[in-house]
Amino acid sequence: MNRLPVTEKLAVNKYELDEGHPHIAVNEEVCRAKCKNLACLYVCPANVYSEQNGRIMADWAGCLECGTCLVACPSDALQWVYPRGGFGVIYRSG
Ligand code: SF4
Repeated sequence: MNRLPVTEKLAVNKYELDEGHPHIAVNEEVCRAKCKNLACLYVCPANVYSEQNGRIMADWAGCLECGTCLVACPSDALQWVYPRGGFGVIYRSG
């Protein structure tokens, strides 16, 4: 059984970054008006989301494409699509 910490497992993955084509966008207006629990900050296994001065930021380059944030966002403030073909995460650890 592989007992590496999650951070080390994530470091094994490769990411093909599609510069200038973010596949995640946060609708700040909806987020600010409707969201009360900031679920995205807690559910993302890759820590893609952060809060800076009251704004939710998405560092989409490290996204694992699991879709958890879409399910967890209570206010539908996320626009999310898969990266274009040939881009995004490449799993190397099972
Ligand atoms: Fe994080 Fe998964 Fe959402 Fe990507 S799809 S931002 S890894 S929760």
